[in-house]
Amino acid sequence: MSFESHTDLSRRRLLGAGMALGGLALAGCASTAGSGPSIGHVVVVGGGFGGSTAARYLKLWGGNIDVTLVERSASFVSCPISNLVLGGHKQMADITRGYDGLRAVGVKVVQGEVTAIDAAAKKVRLAGGGELAYDRLVLSPGIDFMLDGIGGLAAAIDSGRIAHGWKAGPQTVALRRQLEAMPDGGVFAMAIPKAPYRCPPGPYERACMVASYFKVAKPRAKVLVLDGNPEITSKKGLFEKAFKDHYAGIIEYRPNNELKAVDGNTAKLEFDDVKADVLNVIPPQRAGDLARSAGLLNMNNRWVGVNWLTMESTAAAGIHVLGDATFPAPAMPKSGHMANQHAKVAAAAIIQLLKGEAVNATPVVMNTCYSFVTARDAVHVASVHQFDATDKTFKTVPGSGGVSAAANQVEGRYALSWAHNIWADMLAL
Ligand SMILES: Cc1cc2nc3c(=O)[nH]c(=O)nc-3n(C[C@H](O)[C@H](O)[C@H](O)COP(=O)(O)OP(=O)(O)OC[C@H]3O[C@@H](n4cnc5c(N)ncnc54)[C@H](O)[C@@H]3O)c2cc1C
Repeated sequence: MSFESHTDLSRRRLLGAGMALGGLALAGCASTAGSGPSIGHVVVVGGGFGGSTAARYLKLWGGNIDVTLVERSASFVSCPISNLVLGGHKQMADITRGYDGLRAVGVKVVQGEVTAIDAAAKKVRLAGGGELAYDRLVLSPGIDFMLDGIGGLAAAIDSGRIAHGWKAGPQTVALRRQLEAMPDGGVFAMAIPKAPYRCPPGPYERACMVASYFKVAKPRAKVLVLDGNPEITSKKGLFEKAFKDHYAGIIEYRPNNELKAVDGNTAKLEFDDVKADVLNVIPPQRAGDLARSAGLLNMNNRWVGVNWLTMESTAAAGIHVLGDATFPAPAMPKSGHMANQHAKVAAAAIIQLLKGEAVNATPVVMNTCYSFVTARDAVHVASVHQFDATDKTFKTVPGSGGVSAAANQVEGRYALSWAHNIWADMLAL
C-alpha cells in the first residue's frame, strides 16, 4: 500500500469514526448552514485537539449554528511529533498549522485569551475587556503545571534555564537549542512526574528521540531518565526493547526517582543528586488555569469531572469540558486522539441539547497513540471505550485494542499519516 493511499484510507476511517460517534446527529451531517434561524451560539475556548475538533464538528453537524473559537495562539502547534523536532528529524514548520480551514467552514476564530467565565450570565470575558455571550460553552484548555511542590522549578522555568517542552511551541525550540549546545560527553536528564500526566508514552518517546540524535551527533553523550513512577507507564516492553536494541550505553532508565527540587542543573531526588548538562523537567499537571479559576476542578482539586454523555462539567451547567482537563474514565489516556473523540461526543450532544432532542445514550470512543523509537520506526497502543449506563462512565471494550508486536517502519509511516489526518480532521484542512 502506498503512503498516499494509506493516508486517504486513514482519513476515511477517522472521519467514519467521528460520524459513528455522532449517533443521532448523523442527520446533521447532511445539513448545511443556510436557511432558517440559528439554533444557538457556542463559544469554544482553546484551539488545540479538543477545542478545534469541537468547533469544526459543531459546524459540520449543526447546520445553522454560530460557533466562535477563542485561542490565545495565532497557530496550532502539535505536541504529537514534537519529540521528532527534539531529535532533529522534523522542523517546527512540520508541526505547525493555521486556523484558516476553520474560518473557511464558518467558525469565527478570535485570537485572544479568555480570562473569566460568568456561568450564571453565560458570558466569557476576554483579555482586553471584551465579552462573548454564549448558549453553550466548550472548554478545552489543556493542562497547566503544579510547580509549587518542586523547589526552584518555577524560577528555573521562568528564567528559561529549564525547558519542559510539554506544550509544543517556544518550549520545543528552547529544548532543542539546549540539546544542540550540549557538549559531546554531556548528560541530558529528564524527570517524569507521577501519573496521571498528558501523554503517558511521550517521555519514553522523547528519551528515544534525544538518544537517536546523540547517537549520530554526540556519540559520547548520555540520556538519563529519572522516572517518578515505579515502571515505564505505557508500551513498557516495547520501550525496554528499544532502549536495549538501539540505545544500550546511551539511555539509562531509573524508576522510582521522583524529583523533589532543582538547583541549577542539578536534579534533587529523595536519596540522590543528579547533575546534568541539560535538565528537562516534565512537571506534574492539572487542568488548565481557566478551568481552575472558573471553579471547575472538582476531582482531586486537579481535574474536571464530566457527564460522559454530554461532556458537561459536573460542577457547572452549560459548560462542556474536553481533553486533558477532564478527570479520565478508567484506562482513558490523556491524548490528542482522545480529546478529538471527546469533542465529537460533545458536539453531537450540544446540537441535540440546543434542538431539544435526546442525546446519544450509547457513545463509543477510541484511542490510538503512536510513539517513535527511532527516526523511522514506531509502535502504537490502541483501545476502544464504550459508555456503561450502569456506572455512567466509559469502560474499555474487552478484547479491543492492544499494542504493536514490534517496532517497524510501516508503523512509522502510519504514525505520520495519523498526525496529518487528525490535524486535517480537527482544523478542516
Ligand atoms: C511530547 C508530547 C507528545 C505527544 N504525543 C501524542 C501522540 O502521539 N498522540 C496523541 O494522541 N497525543 C499526544 N500527546 C498528547 C496531546 O498533545 C494532548 O493530549 C492534547 O494536546 C490534549 O488536547 P486538549 O485540547 O486537551 O489540549 P491542547 O491541545 O493543549 O489545547 C489547549 C489549547 O487551549 C488554549 N488555551 C488555554 N487556555 C486558554 C485561554 N484562557 N484562552 C484562550 N486559549 C486558551 C491553549 O493555547 C491551547 O492551544 C503528546 C503530548 C506531548 C507533550
